Amino acid sequence: FWKSVRKDELSEATIYGFEALEWVDQEMLREKIILNEKEIKKDEELNDADVKDIPLVSSGKVKEALKEQSEMLSEIKKELVEFKLKLKDFEEVFKANDYYIREDEGISECIEQLADFIVFGVPSKCPKCKEGTLFYDYTEHAYKCDGTDEKSCVASDPNPERHSLDIPEDWAENGFLEGRKLPMLKERSYPPGAHVKMDTVTDYPRDRIRRPTRFGKHLENEE
Ligand SMILES: [Zn+2]
Repeated sequence: FWKSVRKDELSEATIYGFEALEWVDQEMLREKIILNEKEIKKDEELNDADVKDIPLVSSGKVKEALKEQSEMLSEIKKELVEFKLKLKDFEEVFKANDYYIREDEGISECIEQLADFIVFGVPSKCPKCKEGTLFYDYTEHAYKCDGTDEKSCVASDPNPERHSLDIPEDWAENGFLEGRKLPMLKERSYPPGAHVKMDTVTDYPRDRIRRPTRFGKHLENEE
């Protein structure tokens, strides 16, 4: 695995599915990324000041948020596994929320999807084409529009507008998610560099100003 990744491209944001891992596994990988970073610095001289500034692993406040989010997602996914839901169950709850199971998806993808709804809420229809459904993309670290049968759409947003998950009545009666206030978090947190490939949702110049630069830093309002 390590040999298949170009050393200088290795970061939390470039490891596919990193955020779906258990927190302990994420921490183990973080250490390897830091070791790799040290190795690169030894190997070659980095003259470009910008390159030096890219954080490869998250720290401080971002890390706290990522930890909370990761533990919440793991906990919910474990609960969902215990419910032994079948594909038709997922179909039912997704349909109630105007979603669907995509062609190549099985139980584990459905668990990821439902956990995302429970923790962060259900994304509203695409703000650009108004009809498409937004699905999380682990490569691009954003919710991407699936388009419609008639037309494709490239809209993506790391934190789209959302509403709380609608739980079917008989599920609620059986104690599904009883006592939990949904959504559990206001928005999804991302590791450093994750917004590098983000597309703007609209073409308005105002939104373009907020477009992140190559290095994952926003041009304004960077916290
Ligand atoms: Zn769309």
